[in-house]
Amino acid sequence: MRALLIGRFQPLHLGHMEVIRRAIGDYELVIGIGSAQKSHTIDNPFTAGERYEMIYRTLKKEGIGAHIIPIADVDYNSVWASHVISLCPPFDAVLSNNPLTIELFSPLKKVLGTEMFSRTEYSGKEIRSRMIEGEDWRSLVPREVSGYIDEIRGIERIRYLARGDEL
Ligand code: ATP
Ligand code: MG
Repeated sequence: MRALLIGRFQPLHLGHMEVIRRAIGDYELVIGIGSAQKSHTIDNPFTAGERYEMIYRTLKKEGIGAHIIPIADVDYNSVWASHVISLCPPFDAVLSNNPLTIELFSPLKKVLGTEMFSRTEYSGKEIRSRMIEGEDWRSLVPREVSGYIDEIRGIERIRYLARGDEL
């Protein structure tokens, strides 16, 4: 059985990893990288390829296999779930606790509710804010993610973006 987990992964964090770890006993994972066309903005600093690499390296280290599929937005909610389905290998269920994702997928797929883990810290928005402010963000992401963000000079990028400078 395959299950889809869709997120923007800006960046992949330990909340996502907890959902993944709990699912892998029961499901082969399809991980959808949402808003794949977006990058180089404060809310979406990393490209789909960079986010792919974060997920790929982390799952490889953990010995977890998954299909990783970048998915560009369609600004058309009523067809979004079909769009996602058309881009992914066949899957049986969707893992989500996002109300809109649940609403849009429910007519088409079995939806499995997931828990939120330490949401005040394990949150993309919180992590991006800490990156900009120079606070601790490394403890909230897998080691492979912080290492890769260093390699691509991601903190420098997000601070440029926050200042409104051109890259
Ligand atoms: P952002 O703040 O950038 O929106 P996010 O932390 O909400 O980031 P997304 O990349 O938007 O993460 O991924 C959304 C998916 O990941 C949803 O299914 C959401 O429920 C799940 N998720 C996000 N954070 C957690 C968490 N702390 N625990 C469990 N699931 C989480
Ligand atoms: Mg979110």
